[in-house]
Amino acid sequence: MKSTMQETPLLISTLLEFGTTAYADSEVITWTDSGPRTTTYAELGQLSAQLANALRGLGIEGDKRVGTFMWNNAEHLAAYLAVPSMGAVLHALNIRLFPEQLVYVTNHGGSEVVLVDDTLAEPFGKLLPHLPAVKHVIVNGPIPDALRDNLAQHAQVHDWATLLDGQPTTFNWVRDLNENDASSLCYTSGTTGNPKGVAYSHRSNYLHAMAGSGTFHWSAADKLLVVVPLFHANAWGFPYMAMLSGSSLVMPGRYLQAEPLATMIQQLQITGGAGVPTIWSDLLRYFTEHEEADASTVKRLIVGGSAAPESMMRRYQDDLGIEIIHAWGMTETSPMGSVAIPPPGLEEGSDEYWRYRSSQGRLLASFEGRIIGPDGLVQPQDGVSVGELEIRGPWIAASYLTNEGDAPADIEDRASRFGEGGWFRTGDVGALSADRFLKLTDRSKDVIKSGGEWISSVDLENLIMSHPDVVEASVVNIPDEKWGERPLATVVIKEGSTTTSADLRKHLAGKVAHWQLPERWAVIDEVPKTSVGKFDKKRLRERYAAGDLH
Ligand code: ADP
Repeated sequence: MKSTMQETPLLISTLLEFGTTAYADSEVITWTDSGPRTTTYAELGQLSAQLANALRGLGIEGDKRVGTFMWNNAEHLAAYLAVPSMGAVLHALNIRLFPEQLVYVTNHGGSEVVLVDDTLAEPFGKLLPHLPAVKHVIVNGPIPDALRDNLAQHAQVHDWATLLDGQPTTFNWVRDLNENDASSLCYTSGTTGNPKGVAYSHRSNYLHAMAGSGTFHWSAADKLLVVVPLFHANAWGFPYMAMLSGSSLVMPGRYLQAEPLATMIQQLQITGGAGVPTIWSDLLRYFTEHEEADASTVKRLIVGGSAAPESMMRRYQDDLGIEIIHAWGMTETSPMGSVAIPPPGLEEGSDEYWRYRSSQGRLLASFEGRIIGPDGLVQPQDGVSVGELEIRGPWIAASYLTNEGDAPADIEDRASRFGEGGWFRTGDVGALSADRFLKLTDRSKDVIKSGGEWISSVDLENLIMSHPDVVEASVVNIPDEKWGERPLATVVIKEGSTTTSADLRKHLAGKVAHWQLPERWAVIDEVPKTSVGKFDKKRLRERYAAGDLH
């Protein structure tokens, strides 16, 4: 029987129109060298319309691609809203990728126009000669004439303010789109082959935004610090979730160090935010060292992107009264997949409570998940049987983007991640409980396979980081003649502390099985980070596997 309900497509323009009218007075506050710059949601809607009109004028019709090479700011947010709502496809470029990867993803995505922040025009200028499809560059802010001339050798260069000046502040958002049409592109960093592209749809983004706002319960009374870059994993859905919750957004621009973030928190009275664990652990250190810094307005911070150390989450809660919510996701899952909100009725602070809080969280409704053991069989969903997580659902990729002319090896590599029945192989290893809580022990490539047994690098890291003198710790697998692989623990020790790796070994003894104890340690100044601030295990392996141990 066919339903009698309307089949209105789920479009990003609906979110844009709702947010900018229902919450006209909510704010987007961009942090700049001269302090905060405020744009209301109503003004953001007008800015989006002006941008769309300008892009039409430059020939952006149909599903043409528009790239961004920008920090988090109001203009970048306007692009997130305007480009899909006019029917085109947004590609937020990760400004921190290596140049060869940036050239690859920009050419693969096919952007004809790229919006570039003034402070990034110089690095972008170095890529531009290798981007034949880019016809127009729109620079957000003033740039020196020499740099403009340089860019102008390869594309038409426009000044954002001049181009948008006088453009109508309304736009007839395209309504006859199919909700399954692409709205935006995002590439995940490739560990094998080239980066892999995902094309999100209006529908996947819309459903993801609804699930996110229903999970986090933010409201128009909130002011959220969006530390997660808009170019990382679909901005974790923030631009579209915000249109539903009406929360004011604080965009930190290029000021991502602990000190300016602490200033924003205090001066703007932030109530929540989102970022990777390294951002929040740096900030925790800052608040610990600066007792005068006030974080009392913050209620909840979302952490994801890699496993958040339980010790950090506990210290936020105990010392600052801030709840850190652990969430898991991937570029391929839009990205939100699970959120660690414990079931009600648990005694706060009890072991069971923290077991839930430190897990990767409950798989969201609409998702199906299963654990595949090393033998290829589906494991029981009992919270202890470990294997690779596979998932499927309406905001999970069904395939990667493929263009004509892609290398056969890349095509094969991409196809290998999708199984029959729509199951996506996450490459993450862990267990799933009967009540859908996910506990990841590792990424499959980071698991330490020692003498036929698996050692979880994440468990070791968590234990090492629970030592009060440890600032950061990352454990990697390194080849070992006898055991196949053994763990190498790399640690950053608090300045002035006399703690040694022998002390840390003692700290672990009794907490993990004897054979899991790392015998190889490297005390280092800083754990290298990836383009989105995660521990870079690949570089750690390259750098320390050969020795150089203290
Ligand atoms: P990249 O592959 O470039 O890191 P993503 O940001 O899409 O790109 O990374 C997704 C991966 O990040 C997941 O597959 C998982 O391994 C890891 N991850 C994300 N959130 C968490 C989390 N809360 N705990 C552990 N790992 C996480």
